[in-house]
Amino acid sequence: MEIKFQKAAKLKEKPDAHELGFGKYVTDYMFVMDYDKEDGWHDARIVPYDEFMLDPRCVTLHYGSETFEGLKAYRTEDGRILLFRPEANAVRMQNSNDRLCLAKIPTDMFVEAVRELVKVEKDWVPDQPETSLYIRPVCYGTENTIGVHPSDSFRFFIILSPVGCYYPEGVNPVKIFVEDEYVRAVIGGTGACKCGGNYAASVKAQEKAEKLGYTQVLWLDGVHREYVEEVGTMNVMFKIDGKVVTPPLEGSVLPGITRDSIIRILRDWGYEVEERRLSIHELMQAARDGKLEEAWGTGTAAVISPIGELNYKGELTTINDFKTGELTQKLYDYLTGIQWGKIADPYGWTQEI
Ligand SMILES: *Cc1c(COP(=O)(O)O)cnc(C)c1O
Repeated sequence: MEIKFQKAAKLKEKPDAHELGFGKYVTDYMFVMDYDKEDGWHDARIVPYDEFMLDPRCVTLHYGSETFEGLKAYRTEDGRILLFRPEANAVRMQNSNDRLCLAKIPTDMFVEAVRELVKVEKDWVPDQPETSLYIRPVCYGTENTIGVHPSDSFRFFIILSPVGCYYPEGVNPVKIFVEDEYVRAVIGGTGACKCGGNYAASVKAQEKAEKLGYTQVLWLDGVHREYVEEVGTMNVMFKIDGKVVTPPLEGSVLPGITRDSIIRILRDWGYEVEERRLSIHELMQAARDGKLEEAWGTGTAAVISPIGELNYKGELTTINDFKTGELTQKLYDYLTGIQWGKIADPYGWTQEI
């Protein structure tokens, strides 16, 4: 793929690595390419970060014709830059785009775009502990029409944001509110896609949880409001009586790349991992019986996020005395060790830029 480069007149000052937060800053450049029926994906370019102009009829503004991805570039101690499983993000975006009737981006194009942009912005990959460069690819419909039908033109862009810890709490247990009113997804819907629409429908519950003093919500399934699905924007895992239980990928749960990696690691470590439906009643009973040993969320942004408390209909349960569990910590250290190139990667998941 030929990528044109347009130089910025002036580069931004890099922020202090200790004040990055999550998503506050963007780098100097972005990747953009466009799609139409005649030319397919064309006009790939790396250009100074800037605003887009939208026609008020743009289909995305009206009908949410949008998908996105999230991955990171990590700086190793010896200064190299690593990506973690970018092909998996490419494939997932293809699946999301298929469901939302957006043009697919071939894997090699997607990965090349990510690699070339990060290469241009390599000085933006921070080197302090727990920091990385968050990569946000987005695809959206650009047809200007008020009628509802699949868009016939699209834009794909990638922006970059140097980030610190996802939660201001750092890698510490968070309090989770079990949401039994609002639902995130149903089988047959778009729960397995990474699309803005899922988030549009979920921020209300997030707002409610925050008002009650909770960091995130635990989603229950949309039909019975009984089976555990995800925790906020992460997949969720529970260590119950020595085994690890996580909801199956049946269409309403996002197939997380961190989830997939953690399952692989756990099985290699000899843990039994059950991908099965887990009802909130079974979970609360396990907690009452003292069998709920650890719980954590998995996702690129926070990697592993320990869960310290659950509130289900006013019944509170504290997990592992509100301390990060031993296995949770071990998984965090191991996976982030691979991602930051501190330990050997036996899976071939990382690739250098
Ligand atoms: C992105 C995302 C995840 C985590 O996926 P990763 O590939 O591990 O980052 C989990 N749940 C939802 C709803 C997401 O959007």
